[in-house]
Amino acid sequence: MMVNVVSVKPHEKYMGVYIVELEDGSVRLATKNLVPGHRVYGERLFHWEGVEYREWNAYRSKLCAALWNGLEELPVKEGNRVLYLGAATGTTASHVSDIVGSKGRVYGVEFAPRVMREFVLVAEIRKNLYPILGDARKPHEYRHIVEAVDGIYADVAQPEQASLVADNANFFLKDGGWLLLAIKARSIDVTKEPSEVYKREINTLRERGFEIVDVVHLEPYDKDHAMVYARFHRRK
Ligand code: SAM
Repeated sequence: MMVNVVSVKPHEKYMGVYIVELEDGSVRLATKNLVPGHRVYGERLFHWEGVEYREWNAYRSKLCAALWNGLEELPVKEGNRVLYLGAATGTTASHVSDIVGSKGRVYGVEFAPRVMREFVLVAEIRKNLYPILGDARKPHEYRHIVEAVDGIYADVAQPEQASLVADNANFFLKDGGWLLLAIKARSIDVTKEPSEVYKREINTLRERGFEIVDVVHLEPYDKDHAMVYARFHRRK
């Protein structure tokens, strides 16, 4: 169904993100399509003043949900080098790819070959995506491929995500670099309340050199997750 666009404005708080107002009165978030004419996950394409935007679906992307829920800042910037752990088929990674633009790079690590095949197809079209078939628990195995990065985005739904992320940070993350970590609390420990799991994971991050900037819960878009935003300080 075609819905007409009434306006597209840059988001006041999140650079690289756009607010699209539609004729039916609804408001959507979107990113500027790096590869006009191409969709990644069936998202709507919006056209405004000669530019194409891709709808960013908060029910499909935890980063978008975190923005709707008021994340303190979007640390992903144009030109950034990003290490993305748990790239899956590239839904969120494609929006990160839009934001970092043609001067940026997104290294996407994914260990499921079937999923990776789809991500590779996305990366063939988006030249700033670098797919890596690998296990995020073993950063030494891809250290020869990944350069120093400005940020790490992690959404691997694994137990002990924080320590896995810290291991990757030690290899690749610049001093002062950012971390966005989607904590899937219930997959870490089904017997504990999410808040307890967040606390433990956040403690691990602190012990490993991260300063927590913000934690945003993702309801109603995603009931089981929170997004942690942190900064990394390398130990001298
Ligand atoms: N971030 C994606 C998005 O928003 O489009 C969704 C990621 S999905 C929740 C988690 C992904 O992490 C799955 O595709 C899974 O195969 C992958 N994964 C889990 N453990 C991993 C590991 N140790 N190394 C690499 N990938 C892993």
